[in-house]
Amino acid sequence: LSTYDKHKDVLEALGISKQNKGVFDGEWKGSGSVMQSINPVNNEVIAEVTTGSVQDMDTALDKVVEAQKIWREYTIPQRGQVLLAMRNALAANLQPLGKLVALEMGKILPEGVGEVQEYVDVLDYALGLSRSMSGSFIPSERPGHAMIETWNPLGVTGVISAFNFPVAVYGWNQAIAFVTGNGVIWKPSPTTPLCSLAITTLLEKVLREQNLPPSLCSLVTGGTEVGHKLVTDKRANLISFTGSTAVGKKVGITVQERFGKHILELGGNNAIIVTEDADIEMASRAILFAAVGTAGQRCTTARRLIVQESVYDKLVGKLKEAYKQVKVGDPLDQGILCGPLHTKSAVEAYEKALKDIKAQGGDILYGGAVIKDGELAKGNFVMPTLTSVTADMDVVKNEVFVPILHTMKYKTFDEAIHMNNNVAQGLSSSVFTSDPAKIFKWIGPAGSDCGIINVNIPTNGAEIGGAFGGEKETGGGRESGSDSWKQYCRRGTCTINYSGQLPLAQGINFG
Ligand code: NAD
Repeated sequence: LSTYDKHKDVLEALGISKQNKGVFDGEWKGSGSVMQSINPVNNEVIAEVTTGSVQDMDTALDKVVEAQKIWREYTIPQRGQVLLAMRNALAANLQPLGKLVALEMGKILPEGVGEVQEYVDVLDYALGLSRSMSGSFIPSERPGHAMIETWNPLGVTGVISAFNFPVAVYGWNQAIAFVTGNGVIWKPSPTTPLCSLAITTLLEKVLREQNLPPSLCSLVTGGTEVGHKLVTDKRANLISFTGSTAVGKKVGITVQERFGKHILELGGNNAIIVTEDADIEMASRAILFAAVGTAGQRCTTARRLIVQESVYDKLVGKLKEAYKQVKVGDPLDQGILCGPLHTKSAVEAYEKALKDIKAQGGDILYGGAVIKDGELAKGNFVMPTLTSVTADMDVVKNEVFVPILHTMKYKTFDEAIHMNNNVAQGLSSSVFTSDPAKIFKWIGPAGSDCGIINVNIPTNGAEIGGAFGGEKETGGGRESGSDSWKQYCRRGTCTINYSGQLPLAQGINFG
């Protein structure tokens, strides 16, 4: 565990030891298998975690159900004050938490810190909601009647998260589920357990200080078995699942079978369109961040670049130059823009994608190799890659979670929109243009069919204030801002008769 010793200061400050208990339901425990957290820079073990068993999940569900009975009685502004304390605890640990994200997940340090900042931001947002989330007073057709909409907590929100945002995805859900009065139980990715331990430890401290049952934010680390237990259990009123489309589809069906509620945040296959009237310099900077940021491991990473044929050579030429400047290396080192892939199996997926591209007639314009020399050979490092393909090739239809950007040409703007929409996924999309007519077409009914529809910004890097999520095989869920909070609530339509008479709706006279 030499990686542990190297980063001992940060790990100890966040309460992480060489051996850890991976379940929290008011107390720390764990009766499942031992899992190792691996540093993707060199594939060395950072620390070990005794994960949860199905029995641990069962007990944790009981605990969170009990705790929520206390939490739901807090007024919403009172809940806001608890969220404020959580916000301050996270903000005070922004740098160490960001470093832990970089160490365990492999994204570069500024992105690791940015991810924790996103959690702080959504807690700010939830604090605002605690003074503003309101129902409506609806006009009644009957005299002496009032119609009111109430928003009460669903009960327990189960959060199942992916490896690539090991802090923020939980944050979006925990903050909003919590302000709406829910208890939360978290099943994180099996490859990023340390991030979930650090966050849960901070939340535990706040909850204890606030004299609330700490099981309100419970954690059960582990793999498919404990995830499946959570998904099938009726005590989890809402399952918020973030991960691949293949797993999300199964989760959605299972939750639906028991008439639970779900939010599905699944895979993307995001495109950027660059028109002939775009600012090519700005577009190329945005594309670099969208395609290479987080080493291509964001759900909103740009995977397809659709360029008007008259500016294709100019833009792709600029991109090749920009790609040459990208430093690949240890995500904790200054000046590095591209860290490693998270696991060895992601490197295999990258190699397979390269083979498929060539077999289907595509060309590699830049990159296209696993890094096998020097220090980086110990880790999961690959070259960010640019290809030239056509829209009908199979390789552009699927999400491969690596930094490969497929470029292709179009003639008319309608054709470009069709190419954007002609995939199974529907998460994020961007157009670079200076033409208002194209902008309004893009955001209108015949425009992009995605949940995120950007103009002159990249596909990634969403703000927390908007509702985040996508259509089609991306699952249809929305998280974070706007009115996403309503999904964590039971909506009541209350009609109150204060007239002393009994007039019926639609003027019905009954007896
Ligand atoms: P994954 O689907 O392999 O795993 C996600 C989670 O599901 C993990 O916690 C895993 O343990 C759990 N799981 C696996 N099988 C399960 C089962 N049968 N029942 C319940 N839980 C189960 O995904 P990943 O590789 O960790 O993440 C990458 C994927 O996530 C990409 O497809 C990416 O696009 C997607 N993603 C989407 C968003 C979004 O907001 N749309 C955000 C981040 C990541």
